[in-house]
Amino acid sequence: MTDVAVIGAGPAGVLAALRAADLGARTTLVTRDEFGGMAANDGPVPVRTLAHAARLMRDARQLGRYGIVVGEPRLEYSRLLERVREVVNDVRAHSSLRRQIETLGVEVRERAGHARFADAHTIETDSGLRLAAETFIICTGGVSRRLPVPGFELTNTHSDAWSLTSVPPSMLVVGAGATGVQVASIFNAFGSRVQLFQAGPRILPGEDEDVSAAVTAAFRSANVVVHEDFGAIESFERTPAGVRMNFAKNGQHNSAEATLAVVAVGWVAATEALNLAAAGVETDDRGFVKVDAYMRTTAHHVFAAGDVTGRMMLVPQAIQDGFVAATNAVRGPTMPADDAVSPVGSFTDPEYAQVGLTEAKARETHDVLTAVLPFDATTRTIIDGRTTGFCKLVVDRKTFRMLGCHAVGERAVEIAQVAAITIAANMRVDELARIPLSFPTYAGTLTRLAASAARKLNLEVGWQANQSEGV
Ligand SMILES: Cc1cc2nc3c(=O)[nH]c(=O)nc-3n(C[C@H](O)[C@H](O)[C@H](O)COP(=O)(O)OP(=O)(O)OC[C@H]3O[C@@H](n4cnc5c(N)ncnc54)[C@H](O)[C@@H]3O)c2cc1C
Repeated sequence: MTDVAVIGAGPAGVLAALRAADLGARTTLVTRDEFGGMAANDGPVPVRTLAHAARLMRDARQLGRYGIVVGEPRLEYSRLLERVREVVNDVRAHSSLRRQIETLGVEVRERAGHARFADAHTIETDSGLRLAAETFIICTGGVSRRLPVPGFELTNTHSDAWSLTSVPPSMLVVGAGATGVQVASIFNAFGSRVQLFQAGPRILPGEDEDVSAAVTAAFRSANVVVHEDFGAIESFERTPAGVRMNFAKNGQHNSAEATLAVVAVGWVAATEALNLAAAGVETDDRGFVKVDAYMRTTAHHVFAAGDVTGRMMLVPQAIQDGFVAATNAVRGPTMPADDAVSPVGSFTDPEYAQVGLTEAKARETHDVLTAVLPFDATTRTIIDGRTTGFCKLVVDRKTFRMLGCHAVGERAVEIAQVAAITIAANMRVDELARIPLSFPTYAGTLTRLAASAARKLNLEVGWQANQSEGV
């Protein structure tokens, strides 16, 4: 019998196995397919590589503006997929985690197929492995949500991008959360005619309303057809050229056709194969594994971490939760999971990002001041010819501290990282304004906004009060 069995080798599982072994537990890591999980093989790493290719396409279109004469860029999708594979392999080959795991003596059982509980202390896998353990950590991640509508099997997910042989001439993207907008933005840059469907009133519903509006406007001006509040899907059916989606709103029937329909309407826990009942592990009403503050499930010898728990569903959080779950699995419930400041963003065109509270959320509980800088008024964005977007600070009038930062446009994700540090450091806006960040930079937008907020709050900010990035 091993001490700790970790199921799933994504970021949560790898960190959990590392931590458990580091604390001296005999640890086995069992995973269905490749080491690295969705993050390394199907999510951020390969999708970011496609997004980088989309960025290169749009950068190439700018070359003429800067006096560089080349032809119109043309994408060879099969060569791009080769590059994606190269990147995925390179990232995997350079993973220090793999080496650490081996050094610590974790037994890694890759490509074991699905694991399932045979009883409370035993798992079995499709490959025939049977493993008994004192403690388990479930890190099986999630899968794209399926819709119970006729013809759903004709639809695709983002994962199908890896098996396409060419860029589809047209695409329906259903669902405009983080994954849907990425797919729409990337394939629009590659030349697909994209229609984006959102059931709710606005795309990116978790973002600040100004962010949703700016991304919608930018998508529309890039010829993505954005349908908000489009109604309910009735069915999908095959057409000679691809697929048709039938939908209805207020009794009115409508349809849209394209070569492909990609559905990204949510992420659900990958628990179906696990036979959780045999271990006494319960799920919540959304289907995610229920955990307490110690990442302990309803069966106290079973812990869970990462997407399978439905918390933030991002790599850094999966890593943190894996560490916490393993610590508590080995030492007993001693380390609660904390809700650290967590920036969120995506590499669309334009990028968008946030950290902290949206303006609407902040107004529910605080007396709020906002400062906004449009990207057509900052030196660096003008230099780079990237003047679409804005950055907004949401500031508490009482404490003078930043409650949230929201950005759309070039390097928005990087701006949010710097904002996250200032929030985590509990800095006042006048303190942030006094830091002479480099000129001309995207991060410099933050000090300019902080100075503007500080002025409105009658705070002393010294020489920075009147500077507008040095020009
Ligand atoms: C398109 C896309 C883009 C994303 N981009 C970003 C991004 O830019 N930044 C970011 O931070 N996050 C991003 N994410 C989210 C991020 O990928 C996840 O939050 C992260 O991978 C979660 O890690 P995990 O360890 O919980 O699960 P996963 O990475 O999903 O790993 C779970 C592992 O468990 C295995 N498994 C599943 N069931 C079983 C079973 N029964 N038995 C054995 N093994 C099993 C799976 O094969 C997999 O290896 C993105 C997600 C998607 C879909």
